[in-house]
Amino acid sequence: MSSNGLEAVDGLTLPEEHRGLLRPGEAVQGEDGIVHHLPRFFFAVPSWSAAREYRIAEHFKLSELMTVDAFEADLLLHKFPHYVPCAITILARYLEDFRREADAVVFVSANGGYRSPAHRRNRGKTAHNWGTAADIYRVGDTYLDEEKAIAKYARVAEGLGPQVSVRPYVAGDDHLHIDLGYFTVTPRNCSES
Ligand SMILES: [Zn+2]
Repeated sequence: MSSNGLEAVDGLTLPEEHRGLLRPGEAVQGEDGIVHHLPRFFFAVPSWSAAREYRIAEHFKLSELMTVDAFEADLLLHKFPHYVPCAITILARYLEDFRREADAVVFVSANGGYRSPAHRRNRGKTAHNWGTAADIYRVGDTYLDEEKAIAKYARVAEGLGPQVSVRPYVAGDDHLHIDLGYFTVTPRNCSES
């Protein structure tokens, strides 16, 4: 990883086994039943230590938005580089705004940032597979495991703009899901041809 940025790669140029799991640019049905194209361009993250060092926004390390565990496909969990959709930078900006409005530290769950289309926690394809969603389990000292706290911070998230969607509370929830929809980013110098 260079000191001034992340290396962007075209997912269509990755080895076949990676393409089979990441499915770059592929049209899939989202959990809403509507077809969307999965991200094609990714940042190549060379190691966990690099992810922990890389500040993707003022108060967020890249690692916070890409932490997965044994629910992720083995190859993607164990082999580096890891690939994270380029839209993760935009998610980080929104989380930074959320943190500012909440005026407290924001904690994203494991498996609650980017996870691949092959991740075993997926129930249908969600914005998590685009790198445009985050599950927030704690804000400051408040754990988001009951309706009142989740509703409070859902309002904060919705106040950030019309593109921000929150998932309404369901009994048993232990986090607030926020997402920006199914958008993808084409970095400079990357061709979509
Ligand atoms: Zn979620």
